[in-house]
Amino acid sequence: MSAGDARSDRDSDDSEAILRTDGLLKEFGNFAAIDDVSIAVEPGEFRSVIGPNGAGKTTLFNLISGALPVTEGTVTFQGEDITNLPPEQRIRRGMARSFQISNIFGGLTVRENVRLAAQALHREEYGLREALFRPTDRYDGINEDTDRILDRIGLAGVAEETAASLPYGDKRRLEIGVVLATEPELVLFDEPTAGMGPEETQNTIDLIEEVLVDQTLILVEHDIELVMDLSDRITVLHRGEVLSEGTPEEIAEDEAVRDAYLGGMT
Ligand code: ADP
Ligand code: MG
Repeated sequence: MSAGDARSDRDSDDSEAILRTDGLLKEFGNFAAIDDVSIAVEPGEFRSVIGPNGAGKTTLFNLISGALPVTEGTVTFQGEDITNLPPEQRIRRGMARSFQISNIFGGLTVRENVRLAAQALHREEYGLREALFRPTDRYDGINEDTDRILDRIGLAGVAEETAASLPYGDKRRLEIGVVLATEPELVLFDEPTAGMGPEETQNTIDLIEEVLVDQTLILVEHDIELVMDLSDRITVLHRGEVLSEGTPEEIAEDEAVRDAYLGGMT
């Protein structure tokens, strides 16, 4: 990677945002799924993105994570223009997308899963192969980091169980542990409660609140109560555009939001 080039426009603006999009446009054919979206997320912020089905929430995530190329506009992460970087490069720079159960190795123990993710962090230092297979006592603090994360996700008691044997809810905890072990600067979270019943939804909300509330996070979520409870700020998307943005209190009182969106909710 040519770090010099990539970082040449670092600090080119004085904003404290960890992530910003400027004039983001995404067209599918001649339909704009994301239309002139500019948002700025501060370090430590819990940001939610809400809006009706088809508003463009997942598309926005895909542009931020690099899963889709932008049509126009820029994405800036930690002061660096990452608009044209592939997803792996964004992950390396500290962007994580959570809740992909496929990231868990079922045959390994809970502890091994977390430790592998922590070790993979050091791949730049040692090279990937060596990073993964090096004896763990050679890493300063890696076992301590692993234990700290196991505590944080509430799985210290089942650390020696295989991941495959965990109940579903604990698999989700482990998934979050694997994400945290990579020490992400920003976690993107798309509809973690989609398809869940009330009890599972509540468990997921508790989990996010316990484990992720201090993490810089962008959450796409349809459960308005969760969003109102946990968010520092909310961005409301409507037909690909930012309809409104503000604190939960401001959003709850915004008439345009109520007319376009909240009014239609049960
Ligand atoms: P949300 O996540 O808010 O429900 P999406 O971002 O998934 O909305 O979709 C926004 C709009 O873009 C929708 O009208 C959807 O049909 C359209 N869209 C999303 N992905 C594609 C694609 N790959 N090709 C064509 N249209 C798409
Ligand atoms: Mg979506």
